[in-house]
Amino acid sequence: MSETAASTSAYRYVSQDIIEVRSPATGAKLAELPVITAGAVARAVEDARPAQARWAQKTFSERAEILYRYRDALIDHQEKLADYVTAETGKPRSDVFGNELFYVYDAIGFWAKNAEKYLRAENIHPHLFKSKKVVSIYSPIGVVGIIGPWNFPLVLTIGDAIPALMAGNAVIIKPSELTPLAVQYAADLAEKVGWPEKLLQIVPGYGATAEALIDHADMITFTGSVETGKKVMRRAAERLIPVSLELGGKDAMIVLKDADLDRAAGACVWGALMNSGQVCTSIERVYVEEPVYQPFVDRVVERVQKLRQGPSDATVELGSMTSAAQIDKVEAQVRDAVAKGAKVLSGGRRNASLSGYYYEPTVLVDVAHDMDVMREETFGPVIPIMKVHDVEEAVRLANDSRYGLDGSVFTRDRDRGRAVAERIEAGSVCVNDGLVNFVIPEAPMGGIKESGIGRRHGVDGIRKYCRQKTIVIDRFGMKNEPNWFPASKMKAKAVQAALRLFYRSGWRARILGPPSEGGN
Ligand code: NAD
Repeated sequence: MSETAASTSAYRYVSQDIIEVRSPATGAKLAELPVITAGAVARAVEDARPAQARWAQKTFSERAEILYRYRDALIDHQEKLADYVTAETGKPRSDVFGNELFYVYDAIGFWAKNAEKYLRAENIHPHLFKSKKVVSIYSPIGVVGIIGPWNFPLVLTIGDAIPALMAGNAVIIKPSELTPLAVQYAADLAEKVGWPEKLLQIVPGYGATAEALIDHADMITFTGSVETGKKVMRRAAERLIPVSLELGGKDAMIVLKDADLDRAAGACVWGALMNSGQVCTSIERVYVEEPVYQPFVDRVVERVQKLRQGPSDATVELGSMTSAAQIDKVEAQVRDAVAKGAKVLSGGRRNASLSGYYYEPTVLVDVAHDMDVMREETFGPVIPIMKVHDVEEAVRLANDSRYGLDGSVFTRDRDRGRAVAERIEAGSVCVNDGLVNFVIPEAPMGGIKESGIGRRHGVDGIRKYCRQKTIVIDRFGMKNEPNWFPASKMKAKAVQAALRLFYRSGWRARILGPPSEGGN
């Protein structure tokens, strides 16, 4: 660990009452914020309730209009937003525009246009009870709590707030203690475009602040690690409030022998190293069929060696990592892999020429499936590549994981690619592409296995912020229904006959009853 990285990490945590935000790229102090206490979180939720009630009265198009105004305000202040994100994360400025801001702007347009369609009342046609009119409606759940991670400080807070708001909810965001600045600035802009006061609130803090939010909000959307996600679910269970958990991943990429190797290598390098690999859906391990293993590895190494790393104000592909703990974890996994026989073809160490949390983009081969780097989430700029005998071995190894977030398959045969995709245990799989599913808001996104429960995007991405209610309306208004009181022998016999008529297979059995002893 370099001197500077070691010393900057020591300043992150000052006390339970204060968050000190520092630049991971330079160590410079950016801000000091007071931690929001549990009592203040409870008050924030109570303050949000009247705002939510007023907001829920608005039509979808009125809410959409305010969100469009909000988007304009974000665009007018995007340089400042980018300043905050680059400063607190260390990611390249181009990534902030291309990923964070693009996502938020697009999400506003998408949910503003589609919320009403997804939440429209649905007429249900009963197969039997034709005398009833049945409708299913969606109403806002109330105050939604969003607990976010640090890797995409706007996408995974404001981005998730947009469908919740369009559904008529108030939102309270507990951002990561590492990255609370950009989201606070984005929320301040909301107040300037005529939102009801307290409709969107930010409560900076550590785990205790997040726990208080779980204790008071009506629903929690959490994005973060598996370990914290389990704590969130346990705590939410005490109040039986719904949770949506978007957790970690160890996404596998499979390269079949008929793949376009240039496209596969390009996708691999971008998909594994974008945001220094600190993406939940990063490509974290690669399985390549034997005949194309070496040419694929050569192409990956060639591309990796051309990448530029440095402070976010320069033209670089890779910035600094965001936290001291994260770079330590990456270093430990690579060290463990090398000790167990892996070979480093590129990188494999901190960048000695830069003083922040810079880890060189790394390619590892001769990796084995019992190494941490193949089993545990790395969340860093590391590409471990493993040779496999055939597609069967690739699928078996890809599925040999506690995670199941995303995955990818590369082959010129798209039908075969789809067939392999269907066998990969993950919430989403791309064929001849990677990570792109996240920016297709129509497509449900989320994990299986320990990568989470619930979906963002698509119809479930907004209905999760609603209470679903069924309304049944009697059409004819008879004085009495046949199944109501009083009971009688005749009614009982009629029910028995009806059961036989409707549910017993075969017309003979229905009309004549069961066969007698001697057969009939
Ligand atoms: P983390 O779990 O450490 O923290 C996430 C949030 O939880 C932070 O705001 C933190 O303050 C809060 N928290 C801490 N203790 C808590 C508690 N006891 N109860 C409730 N909340 C608590 O995760 P992180 O390090 O900030 O983020 C990285 C992780 O997020 C990675 O595992 C990554 O894969 C995952 N992630 C997943 C997705 C996805 O969509 N699936 C997207 C981005 C990141």
